[in-house]
Amino acid sequence: MKFNVILACGGSGKRSGLPYNKLLLNVGGAPLLALTISRFYHESISKIIVAYNADDLNAVSKITQGMDNVALCKGGESRADSIANALKYVDDDCDYVIIHDGARCNLPRQCLIDAMRDAVTYGASALYTDSVDSLRQICEDGVSSVAVDRNKIKRIQTPQIFKAEEIKLAYRLAAEDCANFTDDATLFERYIGKPVHLTKGSEDNYKVTTPQDCSIINGGEIFIGNGWDTHRLDVGRKLILGGIEIPHDKGLVAHSDGDVLIHAIMDAILSAIHERDIGVLFPDSDNSYKDVSSVVLLREVLNIVNSKKFKINSVSAVIMAQKPKLSAHIPTIQINLARIMGIDENRVSITATTTEKLGMVGREEGISVSSVAALKRV
Ligand code: MG
Repeated sequence: MKFNVILACGGSGKRSGLPYNKLLLNVGGAPLLALTISRFYHESISKIIVAYNADDLNAVSKITQGMDNVALCKGGESRADSIANALKYVDDDCDYVIIHDGARCNLPRQCLIDAMRDAVTYGASALYTDSVDSLRQICEDGVSSVAVDRNKIKRIQTPQIFKAEEIKLAYRLAAEDCANFTDDATLFERYIGKPVHLTKGSEDNYKVTTPQDCSIINGGEIFIGNGWDTHRLDVGRKLILGGIEIPHDKGLVAHSDGDVLIHAIMDAILSAIHERDIGVLFPDSDNSYKDVSSVVLLREVLNIVNSKKFKINSVSAVIMAQKPKLSAHIPTIQINLARIMGIDENRVSITATTTEKLGMVGREEGISVSSVAALKRV
């Protein structure tokens, strides 16, 4: 059985509030459209036809360049016009046409497989979800309303799948009528007169439409960064860790105050947002950073985080020091760092360990810190 896919991408995506078509939105490093296309890599699908908006020709061409089995077709004035155009590109030997909204980029694979199976079994299929809200229907006066049994109402999604010859005929008849439909299943029933089988869809298969949808789709993404720093211990210096002075007979030697913990955390944060490290940002050749509090440097790093529209989700660090014993100071350090970074203290986790007297840490020559930061887009 041979399937072709038509992706309805002819809209301008204005409701997304983006200054460009939402199909070009960067989702985890790839355009939303590329993600949608990837949902249809299936051995029975021989062609994916993208009905694009003329304004996006260059961008869509670039996204689909080198993709096997992807054909481009100019969309029309309405969604129905776009589908009618795209049907001309369906292969002659195609058995079923899968019509899908380009902005439903999270289509679960099982939903696609179920809908393809049901289309073959019943002749046509469309995905649905149930309503979790109670439903009411507005009466003819336009004001009052009556309750509707929500179990009898289904929300229809795409893909919707039809026999190729039948959906082509349905669209030819609709064109003769100058009829416009927003939904292929409705058009199919109107002109072919056969029922469309409903296949259980998924809430994950939502259509990215509003600015909230755009931020949700990227909001869950976590950016991880690593940081590491080591400083030498010597007499005549204060020991500062996490902005807190720790009583000890030695302190860390550095151009700044030597707060090795904050240094490692800053590098982890910068790494997570693809920025260069603190050695580049605050070079020790710059005298303005001489003996500077590392808290000041951390605040500068937080400004960069803000300006790149990220926020810190959590920070973790392990301090490797033979002496002094740090356990009693950890809660104070965590609270201090959380306040500086403006996050809940539960999101700052500091642990301390010795190296069992091994290596330079074990010989009390220095202290090392390893850190990991997790950031999200705002
Ligand atoms: Mg350092």
